[in-house]
Amino acid sequence: MRKKSILTKVMSYCLMTAMFALSGMSRAPMLAEAEENAGVKANYSIYTNDHLWGPVIPDNTSCQAGAGMAVTALAATLTGQPENMTGTITYQINLSGSGWLNWVENGTQTGTLDTDMPIEAVRVMLTGQLAENYEIYYTVWQNGVWTPWAANGETAGVDGQGVSVQGIRISVVPKGSPAPEIKADDPVVLVPEPEPEPEVPVINGKFDPSKPMVALTFDDGPHAPVTNRILDSLEQHGARATFFMVGNRVHGTSNTAVVKRMAALSCEVANHTFEHKEITKLATPEIQAQLNQANQAVAAACGVTPILMRPPGGAYNAASLQAVGLVNMRAVLWSIDTLDWKTKDKQSTVDAVLNHVKDGDIVLMHDLYGTTADAAEVIIPELIKRGYQLVTVSELASSRGGMEAGKVYSQFRPK
Ligand code: ZN
Repeated sequence: MRKKSILTKVMSYCLMTAMFALSGMSRAPMLAEAEENAGVKANYSIYTNDHLWGPVIPDNTSCQAGAGMAVTALAATLTGQPENMTGTITYQINLSGSGWLNWVENGTQTGTLDTDMPIEAVRVMLTGQLAENYEIYYTVWQNGVWTPWAANGETAGVDGQGVSVQGIRISVVPKGSPAPEIKADDPVVLVPEPEPEPEVPVINGKFDPSKPMVALTFDDGPHAPVTNRILDSLEQHGARATFFMVGNRVHGTSNTAVVKRMAALSCEVANHTFEHKEITKLATPEIQAQLNQANQAVAAACGVTPILMRPPGGAYNAASLQAVGLVNMRAVLWSIDTLDWKTKDKQSTVDAVLNHVKDGDIVLMHDLYGTTADAAEVIIPELIKRGYQLVTVSELASSRGGMEAGKVYSQFRPK
């Protein structure tokens, strides 16, 4: 199959040359045109054993599979080919376990999409008049280095030794031009693209970072009958708060709706583990699972993935904080503990805040108790009356030094 395919191309190439000879056409104009239009370039994509096609890579740009991954399929096309210039790009890969596959051309995918068998070597050629006017160079990333450039159908890479190709770079240059230089700091497109850092929630609410701010926080919910009352009060006064939610509580019509409402009111949705587990008693993978599951539950309800977590019981240590960092989250404690869960008393909850509050405080409450909602209905307007902006924890942090994954914060005082 392969030989026939090459033969076909060689024949069509010969035929074309013969036609030129017969018609008496000079080839000079074609060459001149090619030089003017030095715009023939290669475009290519790799498929990796992450089972994803990467983006279209422009000519002479390195693309590589992520760490430990390999290239299992390739597709390549050309851009800028003059209309009257014959030929195309054709390529052949050596697939581990299968050897050299048939040559394919112009955008056809070759390799495997279903197995993890890697490519071990690559050959690329131009055909027709393209081959008369252009060189095609290519190199593969193998064993941690770019192989020497191969050109015009030569083999790039070592085949038959089970060494995976983990990247590729292809370049078309005018006939007679040398291969491009490869520099150590050339940009590399990784396939798949690394996961972007979770975005800090958009700071939807308006606030003046130079003025006093307090972050009210509510743990252990959602509990729609209470949470909705707190949201009513926040909404009524144009205020925001942060809700550290227990993931397994985010289900059912009313609790799902209340999470959606938090996000709609620009409150911050945050994570209090999936099952309210004390993270110092868990191994790292269990902590990660608790946080990821809770994030998924919240994101499913409102479309926003939390970036803040609060350790149940406020308990943490170096190992558990490291696990928090591994899922790219920040731990948040508090500077005012209302003890609302213990007293279940409106006035003592109100007093705990209003008798102690300072600029930059993070206030701990729980949206499980009617008495806490009663207290919030007093605290929220009173703090605003005293000149405090009621913001989310991320908003408070954003104007006072920010936060880093794997670190713990309990207040953000003005500088
Ligand atoms: Zn709790």
